[in-house]
Amino acid sequence: MGLFSKKPPCPICGGKISWLLPAKIEGEYICNACYNKMDMESDKAINLTMQEFKEYLMFYDQNQLLKDQFVISEQIDFGVWDTKIIFDYLNKLFCMSKNLDKTVFEGSQLKSFTIKEDNVPLFEGSAEGIRRYISTVPERAMTMAPQISQFMMNRQMARTLDRLDDGKANGSTTMQYFDIPEPFQAFNVELYFDHPYWTVIKCDMDGPRFNNTHPDVNDYLRSYQRSMEEIEKLVTALKTVAFPSATEQFVSPGTAATGTVHTPMTPSADAIEEIKKYKTLMEDGIISQQEFDAKKRQLLGI
Ligand SMILES: [Zn+2]
Repeated sequence: MGLFSKKPPCPICGGKISWLLPAKIEGEYICNACYNKMDMESDKAINLTMQEFKEYLMFYDQNQLLKDQFVISEQIDFGVWDTKIIFDYLNKLFCMSKNLDKTVFEGSQLKSFTIKEDNVPLFEGSAEGIRRYISTVPERAMTMAPQISQFMMNRQMARTLDRLDDGKANGSTTMQYFDIPEPFQAFNVELYFDHPYWTVIKCDMDGPRFNNTHPDVNDYLRSYQRSMEEIEKLVTALKTVAFPSATEQFVSPGTAATGTVHTPMTPSADAIEEIKKYKTLMEDGIISQQEFDAKKRQLLGI
């Protein structure tokens, strides 16, 4: 008994069972080579029977064929966690790992997807269409400008006082960090499947951050724009493999829950002012012509 007792061979492949913490299915040890093939939702994996695992391995072998034919057309990078999604436009496939060591999905297995900014909808896609919600993030970032200049002034003041203090404080009190939270923290990507082993895959992509010693609204907006380009690339890629004939539709933020297009209204003086503001944003390259047009239509109620 104990460590040196001989374990029976893997019931799946007859291979050797690892002596260190081998995986078990229905109380039977299985080898690492078999276990490492498992790529499915955790609650499905936990209750798996040996029979179900054998069926899964047949699915796994079939999936291997998709891996063999996979040609990468597009790769989307999720930053911090180094998650990547790779797409094969020709065969309409995608995989959540650039090494093709995870399940390869067929575009037709994607039922829908949503992309949110801290749970506020930004994109919703399905065969019925791609909905694009107008983000309030740039607007909210701009309203932070007074707080930011206040911070920079305080910081400057503290440095000056410190200098007058003749180094007694030894510089330790001067370091102030900007700690007001950004308009949002993360893009939440959710993919919903019609698939035997996957119902949903969720992953977050960090939103831009303020520089904590030299915060700047324009820097923030520029990195937000870069993130949005990556998000738009993802939407286009998902649409290409899963919903090629879906049309794109803009939805204004107030109608998020129902998704119905806003009702027309009479343009007010405020609306004209707002449009001017967005026009400047477009001219500065912070928003696209398309986004400007959408915002203008929304504000004019046309
Ligand atoms: Zn095995």
